[in-house]
Amino acid sequence: SMASPALLMRVVASAYSVAEKAATIVRNVMSAGDLGIVEKAGPNDLQTKADRLVQMSICASLARKFPKVTIIGEEELPTDDVTEDLIEDGHCEEILKKPCPAQYTGIKEEELVIWVDPLDGTKEYTEGLLDHVTVLIGIAYGGKAIAGVINQPYYNYEAGANAVLGRTIWGVLGMGAFGFQLTEAPAGKHIVVTTRSHSSALVNECITALNPDHVIRVGGAGNKIIQLIEGKASAYVFASPGCKKWDTCAPEAILHAVGGKITDIHGNSFQYTKDVKHMNSAGVLATLRNYDYYASRIPNTVKESLVP
Ligand code: AMP
Ligand code: MG
Ligand code: MG
Repeated sequence: SMASPALLMRVVASAYSVAEKAATIVRNVMSAGDLGIVEKAGPNDLQTKADRLVQMSICASLARKFPKVTIIGEEELPTDDVTEDLIEDGHCEEILKKPCPAQYTGIKEEELVIWVDPLDGTKEYTEGLLDHVTVLIGIAYGGKAIAGVINQPYYNYEAGANAVLGRTIWGVLGMGAFGFQLTEAPAGKHIVVTTRSHSSALVNECITALNPDHVIRVGGAGNKIIQLIEGKASAYVFASPGCKKWDTCAPEAILHAVGGKITDIHGNSFQYTKDVKHMNSAGVLATLRNYDYYASRIPNTVKESLVP
């Protein structure tokens, strides 16, 4: 008989199904019409009923199956009163059938840290920019993002009634990423994707210095990584604090699984150990290709303003 699948593959297979349930919750809260918006740090740092329910669903579902894994979610919520209807206990069979990369077969539950952004792009969600929204489940081992799931609950929502709504992208380092068509950005063009709702003078100064052919301003870290792997943009540039470890963990794993690169604005890689500082204080620089081109053009004045 077959040996039982490696822990990492069981976690990814479960995270896939948990993220699909999360997407259903995101859509249901929106169609019910009561978003229950709460301001956290201020008017550009929001939490909705969907952020709350999805965080409880993801964290409780994964904790029940993998009790020794450390799970860190964005929202500060009580963990005790999660109702049974929020629990997802399924998994994706197709993922479970794939062989685990050899370097990860011996991983134990205690060694994994899961970073959860229940709803990335909350500001855009409240404004009806629904395809900016993603659900992010990132899996880290030895301080590195090694696997991730990105669900886009409203993928295709403007494509007409016959289009399938929503999709789930997943990836593992050493295996690749699935659920989308990897596409190169137009050759010879510099298309920068950046924040839509968290701009600053420094964010704009940095983009101007790159002299891009085009700038795309959209919400969500997950959404911006999707822009890179689908060839819509050539670099994700965000010269500001504000982005956190749960924003970058799943996107990083997927981007790295297809040969891309993400760092802070200085070129430092992100660390995902359980006691790491949550804030990515020195911003984000990510590309699928030509990382060095963009990294070499970040002005020193910008770097000096962002302390890691
Ligand atoms: P954005 O590109 O603006 O959608 O930001 C990507 C992620 O980082 C989202 O989860 C944002 O909520 C978060 N983020 C970025 N800047 C800030 C900020 N100034 N305050 C709060 N959250 C931020
Ligand atoms: Mg986020
Ligand atoms: Mg969020």
